[in-house]
Amino acid sequence: MTQSPDPGRLLLELQKADLEIKKLSKQLNELPVKGAILEVRHKRTEIEALKAKAETLIDGLGRQIKASEDETAQIDEKLEVEQKKLMSGNVTNPKEVTHISREMDALKRRKDKLDVGTLGIMEKAEKAKGQMEKIKLALTQLEAREAKFTEEFKVSGAEVQEAISHVEKRRVTICSALDPALLERYKAIRDAKGVVAVGALEGATCTACRIELPSERVAELKTGPDVSTCPECGRMIVVKTVSVNE
Ligand SMILES: [Zn+2]
Repeated sequence: MTQSPDPGRLLLELQKADLEIKKLSKQLNELPVKGAILEVRHKRTEIEALKAKAETLIDGLGRQIKASEDETAQIDEKLEVEQKKLMSGNVTNPKEVTHISREMDALKRRKDKLDVGTLGIMEKAEKAKGQMEKIKLALTQLEAREAKFTEEFKVSGAEVQEAISHVEKRRVTICSALDPALLERYKAIRDAKGVVAVGALEGATCTACRIELPSERVAELKTGPDVSTCPECGRMIVVKTVSVNE
């Protein structure tokens, strides 16, 4: 691993690249079409939720219809059994005949009631299915709109994206030239502090926190390593660079 002869300058360049990437990314996110994409996605999430609800409803109604049909089939079987008994000629007791007739009437009434109920459920199911078709159509339309906006975003954002990838390449070069330990420190501070991880000593001021340091601190920094820690903000501070002394 080659160690840079000028870690301070590299750190400041890395910082500059990160700030540029941040600014460009913000620019990209603020493109009007990006807002349109987010809006469409939001709408899609809402419609997806409606779709899930409609699916649950249709499933439930389907189960109700099935249960009703099963019960109707059972009643039909019972009716057939009773009918056979009557027709067999084995039942001669008038009381028993009356009993069977009443039983069959009750079964028929239950069956009629079930039929009416089933019709009602079927109507509901038809309605729900119609709703589902509308939901699916809306989703297809939203997907098409999202695809269209995404394409527009690609075109209108191409310039900014190109600028980002340009800076990113530069960043990779800087990182590979930088001492890995310093890079780790930079990343850790950047993650902890937000974007700004390094400042430079400008006169007696840290450019990161803009605080003027007491003269004895400045003197300590100046006799220390090229890259040190700001006693005020705790960020890295470039005390001096090899090519330019600031
Ligand atoms: Zn500072």
